[in-house]
Amino acid sequence: LAIDDSTSQDTEYPELIDTLEQLTEVLTQLPPSTDSVDHEAAQRGRAYLAALAPGGWMVPTWPTEYGGRTSTPEQAQVIRSLLRQYSSPDLYLFFVGLNMVGPALLAHGSAEQRARWMPPIATGEDVWCQMFSEPEAGSDLANVATQARPMQDSWRLQGQKVWTSRAHRAGWGLCLARTDPDQPKHRGMTMFAVRMTTPGVIVRPLVQMNGDQHFSEVFLDDVEVGATDMIGQPGDGWKIAQTVLTHERSSIASSGGRARTGTGSALPRWLQALGDHGNLDDPAKVDAAIAAFIDAEVGRLTAARAAAYAQSGRRVGPESSGQKLRVVASLKRRAYLAQVLLGADGLLAEGPTQDEVLAAPSLSIRGGTDEIQRNIIAERVLGLPAEPRADRDLPWSVSRRGGLA
Ligand SMILES: Cc1cc2nc3c(=O)[nH]c(=O)nc-3n(C[C@H](O)[C@H](O)[C@H](O)COP(=O)(O)OP(=O)(O)OC[C@H]3O[C@@H](n4cnc5c(N)ncnc54)[C@H](O)[C@@H]3O)c2cc1C
Repeated sequence: LAIDDSTSQDTEYPELIDTLEQLTEVLTQLPPSTDSVDHEAAQRGRAYLAALAPGGWMVPTWPTEYGGRTSTPEQAQVIRSLLRQYSSPDLYLFFVGLNMVGPALLAHGSAEQRARWMPPIATGEDVWCQMFSEPEAGSDLANVATQARPMQDSWRLQGQKVWTSRAHRAGWGLCLARTDPDQPKHRGMTMFAVRMTTPGVIVRPLVQMNGDQHFSEVFLDDVEVGATDMIGQPGDGWKIAQTVLTHERSSIASSGGRARTGTGSALPRWLQALGDHGNLDDPAKVDAAIAAFIDAEVGRLTAARAAAYAQSGRRVGPESSGQKLRVVASLKRRAYLAQVLLGADGLLAEGPTQDEVLAAPSLSIRGGTDEIQRNIIAERVLGLPAEPRADRDLPWSVSRRGGLA
């Protein structure tokens, strides 16, 4: 697919001219945005999504009845090109709903669930979090120990999640739980939507080194979940989790980290500002800056290709692991360059540079670590021998963790 950031819709997409005019009118009326993760930014994000929702412009490929506009992937690309020409607020709070839950519901949810959950995601009304990881079930996600016991018309959940991004702001959580401990670990799990205000859901935010309360521990203490909030069938949890994780990786890659840092395409301006302040007066620093610029451009084009690929309707597979690895490496190199160029000032002065440096290490962990992405590429792309997995076919209940649960 050709990658083009400009809007060439006048000639190539005549059917979109009216809709793009309407979208331009909406965008020009919105206030200019800055990037931050504070409360005000959340409100700006919600206002932005609410303004785009009537046209289904934020999620154009979603069916119209679920908050999109049933666009083809090619039409969606044109709409996104126009969106990129205008500033947008930080949409990080809405990332899980828009990029992970929506696509997973399209693939695995019932018509009733799509109709109930997707429109409020598109309008920014509902924030979702992803409750997958647990202590001892991160890279080895199939080891989740949170149990869901069937009742008459509901399920009862008991367990602990950790690293749950935006849990303290979310209205809903997508929760992977074990429903059949006697099945091998990948087979006995089921996916649920948990309302975060249900009695027994306890959210404890964790503070990180950049001062952010990005994620939380979530305790589920005998939490009742209605039968209609189970997604797919009992035992489908792993399959659905794979869909969610694949979309997470490709969205991290195609956003180029912008959802978090807000500076994805700002490197040239950033280098210019550094030069203006005399930080680029040493040839070695100029070299490093140019290398970072080239790196970021390759990352940007790779991300654009990833987005085009995903939007073309082709199933996104293990290649999302390669995209994530490449983009994360580029973002980290840029953050560390900032550290070198700005020295102590870069760390002491609060702002996007400090934020980027302090958030950089987490990029290699969230959405699956670099090592796990390399394992996926090795096994599923290159066809190398799989790592030994002794517990793969054993009932989870006889595994070390299952035995303790
Ligand atoms: C900022 C941030 C946000 C996050 N948000 C969420 C969220 O919203 N929801 C959610 O569910 N999770 C979230 N996570 C959790 C994330 O998915 C896990 O941290 C990640 O999968 C790693 O799991 P772990 O922390 O348990 O580390 P472990 O799995 O214990 O890994 C420890 C180390 O061992 C390495 N390792 C483990 N297994 C292998 C192997 N087989 N081969 C080679 N190396 C291996 C890992 O690469 C890592 O370096 C988030 C994490 C971060 C940092």
